[in-house]
Amino acid sequence: MHLDPQSFRDINPGSRVLMGPGPSDVPTRILQAMSAPCIGHLDPYFLSVMDETQKLLRSLYQTENELTIPVSGTGSAGMEACFVNLVEPGDEVVVCVNGVFGTRMSDIVGRLGAKLIRLDFEWGKAVDPEAVRNTIQGKTPKLVAVVHAETSTGVCTPLEDLSKIAHDAGALFLVDSVTSLGGMEVAVDAWGIDAAYSGTQKCLSCPPGLSPISLSPAALEALDSRKAPVVSWYLDMSMVRNYWGGDRKYHHTAPINMVYGLREALRIVAEEGLEARFARHRLNHLALVAGVEAMGLSMLVAEKERLPMLNTVCIPDGADDPKVRGALLRQFGIEVGGGLGDLAGKVWRVGLMGNASSKRNVCLFLASLETVLKGQGVKVASGALEAAAEVYASE
Ligand SMILES: *Cc1c(COP(=O)(O)O)cnc(C)c1O
Repeated sequence: MHLDPQSFRDINPGSRVLMGPGPSDVPTRILQAMSAPCIGHLDPYFLSVMDETQKLLRSLYQTENELTIPVSGTGSAGMEACFVNLVEPGDEVVVCVNGVFGTRMSDIVGRLGAKLIRLDFEWGKAVDPEAVRNTIQGKTPKLVAVVHAETSTGVCTPLEDLSKIAHDAGALFLVDSVTSLGGMEVAVDAWGIDAAYSGTQKCLSCPPGLSPISLSPAALEALDSRKAPVVSWYLDMSMVRNYWGGDRKYHHTAPINMVYGLREALRIVAEEGLEARFARHRLNHLALVAGVEAMGLSMLVAEKERLPMLNTVCIPDGADDPKVRGALLRQFGIEVGGGLGDLAGKVWRVGLMGNASSKRNVCLFLASLETVLKGQGVKVASGALEAAAEVYASE
């Protein structure tokens, strides 16, 4: 087959404002770190980069867990890693489902031959701890799993009560922190989380490609006392831990330049400080909500259950979902997400993740949305920017 190499041009996507459910805008510092020379995965310099990355990750996860590492792969790889390592055929596993990512967890558990106890909650609402308590009464689950920040709905489920309920039942507590990590507190040790996984492209503002996970001593004990080997060779933490830990034993080649990027992203988080970073996410969220509501639009999620980094805005009557999102992208370079599953065509998912959680983005989005909606003949009130400015002024 003839191939004309000249017909392939240099990659040049132009710039975007990434305000969807991820990836989020990547700071130049991270891209620069990723363009450093690729060296060997056992090079002493790289080993020190690994150690530093783990130190920074433990600080972000607020944990002493030794096995705190980035899994090679996106957030879903971290999800799968946690389940394949901790679940054996026949184990009872409770999965709380209130959106797409809880559904994905139960899919994985089903494939592992475990006894899935799936607890469904309304999409757009938090998981109800009492319902979980009642369901597992008299049962002996190995694991209780929940999504902290449901990116498909914009809902936050508080973790402390669920952690207690899981441990009271003798179960391990597994948390999806893909969207929450780096944008709100994920206190692994204080909240008794036994397994947490995340992703690099949400509130860490790194390109997609790694999944930071943390496993508690109790989780490692469960791993060590398995009867059967982990069914996934690639994600088997009993082997991967020997590369990230003391032995430095080759398992698979670490994605060197991705680790550079994650280290830089975590360094940026540490420089800002966790408190300041979470407060920034919260403030920009409040300003965005004030602006959206001033326009006469409404939020899907009740105020006290809203996520600071993912805002689900109900699509107003008369607005054409693909046409509005298309215009935002074409005219203003802004990417926002559409709804998933039952929420398709009903909501926009507006991300304010990591680097993208900024006053500039909030104001740009509000002004652009107002312009686009009015341009397409949808009636919206004016004053969004003033409402957002009031929130900023009050802080
Ligand atoms: C994005 C996301 C995932 C999946 O991560 P990928 O990087 O797309 O594999 C899992 N859980 C939640 C809550 C997410 O937002």
